[in-house]
Amino acid sequence: MISVEEALEKILSYIEVLEPEEKPILDCLGQVLAEDIYSTIDIPPLDNSAMDGYAVQVTDTRGASESSPKKLTVIGEVAAGSMPTTKVKAGTAIRIMTGAPLPEGADAVVQFENTDEVARKASLELSVDSCQLKEIGILCQASKGLNVRYRGEDIAKGALILQSGTALRPAEIGVLASLGHSTASVIRRPVVSVLATGDELVDISQPLHPGKIHNSNTYAIAAQVLRYGGIPKILGIGRDLVQSLNKKIDEGLDSDMLITSGGVSLGDYDIVKDVLAKRGEIALWTVCMKPGKPSAFGVIKSGGRKVPHLGLPGNPVSSMVTFEQLARPAILKMMGKTNFTKPSVHAIIEDDVKNNDGRRLYARVIVTKREGKYHARLTGPQGSGILTSMTKANGLAIIP
Ligand code: AMP
Ligand code: MG
Repeated sequence: MISVEEALEKILSYIEVLEPEEKPILDCLGQVLAEDIYSTIDIPPLDNSAMDGYAVQVTDTRGASESSPKKLTVIGEVAAGSMPTTKVKAGTAIRIMTGAPLPEGADAVVQFENTDEVARKASLELSVDSCQLKEIGILCQASKGLNVRYRGEDIAKGALILQSGTALRPAEIGVLASLGHSTASVIRRPVVSVLATGDELVDISQPLHPGKIHNSNTYAIAAQVLRYGGIPKILGIGRDLVQSLNKKIDEGLDSDMLITSGGVSLGDYDIVKDVLAKRGEIALWTVCMKPGKPSAFGVIKSGGRKVPHLGLPGNPVSSMVTFEQLARPAILKMMGKTNFTKPSVHAIIEDDVKNNDGRRLYARVIVTKREGKYHARLTGPQGSGILTSMTKANGLAIIP
């Protein structure tokens, strides 16, 4: 029996990063960039205004205050998306909107709130957004660059903006868009075949007859695959017969990884291990964890390929917990990710938990924070068949 860390190291030694694919940027969310992205443009492309206001020369605002406004002649207006047609000269101002290019000659923007625009329009009985004023009073002294966004201050032309290996989050998707990329090259998502085994299983679309249970593992596992970025390929249910299993396994060999559940412990009908041994090689078998001890990993040979196969135990909780520890990092590695850790905290366990069989226990708990400390409470009975112990949990307590 090997430790969880040893098992993981072994599994990851068989897993390779997949090849890149080019696709629309929105479809790349969560995937890892497979190219360096350099900018061919400046962002913003021109000096522009960060506020709605008046583009002015700083020297014209010296000494301006509410009690002694500096009056400037309004010589034009510029909206976002258009270019200024005149320069700001001494004694003049141009009305400017957020994002509009800063007119030549101006070196600051005084926002509307620091001008007498509203008061002036009110006294002239003009609506706030109609009709350009001939004159504007500036009510504060501006410093050079006030409310100005400079060309290239976000992204400079020629700079390396996103490095190959970066996992794309919404912010990176936005940056790609601002650079004018409609597609990106990313490491493709792995297709993960999911096969349940057991004569007791029936599909969720079928009625339950005595002795049968619904195949829940396939759906929990496929959901986990999806959650971590893979594409599940559901193979259905394999019977506890070598022939049935082999046929199902064949259907999954075009995928990047095969995950089976059940049939890996020591019962008479636990044949997944035997099939694996005949069709490939077993790299590990039994891991020092609870739940999840009977977990197998190996590769199945198919043509020139070796398809990684993770055999999870059949008990629904064991299957999910071992997926988290062993399958999740493998999927992340295939996707080009390098950080496999989940957030963890030290917590005080509030129940009396005995763990004396030498295996690391993953208890299903509800973690809360009180007075600066984390506390963990068991979700109830912890049997490895009690799947609702997972639904009630917001964490797994790792108990050595
Ligand atoms: P096994 O590992 O095949 O011995 O299965 C252990 C336990 O998990 C048995 O009680 C099975 O009925 C149950 N089990 C196995 N596969 C599934 C499945 N796909 N969905 C729900 N329960 C399962
Ligand atoms: Mg079984």
